Amino acid sequence: MWKTIRQWLGAAADVALPRVCPVCGQTLDSDEQWLCRQCLAKLPRTRYEDTTFNTMEQHFAGKVPIERATAYFFYEKGSPFASILHDIKYHGMPRMGQWLTARAVRDMAASGFFDGIEVVTAVPLHRSKLAQRGYNQSEYLARGIAQALGIDYIEALKATRPHSTQTHKGAMERWLNIQGNYALKEKSISQLRGKHILLVDDVVTTGSTLTACADLLKSIPGANVSLFTLAAARLE
Ligand SMILES: [Zn+2]
Repeated sequence: MWKTIRQWLGAAADVALPRVCPVCGQTLDSDEQWLCRQCLAKLPRTRYEDTTFNTMEQHFAGKVPIERATAYFFYEKGSPFASILHDIKYHGMPRMGQWLTARAVRDMAASGFFDGIEVVTAVPLHRSKLAQRGYNQSEYLARGIAQALGIDYIEALKATRPHSTQTHKGAMERWLNIQGNYALKEKSISQLRGKHILLVDDVVTTGSTLTACADLLKSIPGANVSLFTLAAARLE
């Protein structure tokens, strides 16, 4: 019940209502932030970053040349951990995402995944969606990483068209459609020249959005691109 009221009231509910873990629904201790200790310990980590040419990197191989790719945890429909993504994206809790990605940077430090990354950017949201939702969740995720690494977040891309329904389209048509949805921001090109850019999104499923965005970033002279998502569907 608290969760429903919280969603209804939005972020202002933080002060008025007991804070609850979005995964298990338990009230959080004063020293717990966003998720309870038990659920954090049970987070279904992909640990892709610990493997050379991991499943996610293989998924993008032959589509767009990237340096590295990883996702923090597995996403499955109906899993209690899926509520983290819903809360971040739809329920006005993008700051939970920012906190989680900063945590991911610390968690993955030993793997060296973030070594050499010079700048962080995010998959953009079309302005009509932005007006509707009020924020771009992927920007919060990217900012969490940039802050934890002490590097810049740059808004490098823009969404030129609202995302249209894809289900009835064939693979090629779908690809062309997604590719035309994004563009590089003119002024970011000089800032990103020769840089190793980390492109961030909330979830990777088919990878077509990340491919289209990475492709644009790769068109910047000397730029290298790595990918990070908060969650991943089980990729094939
Ligand atoms: Zn919990």
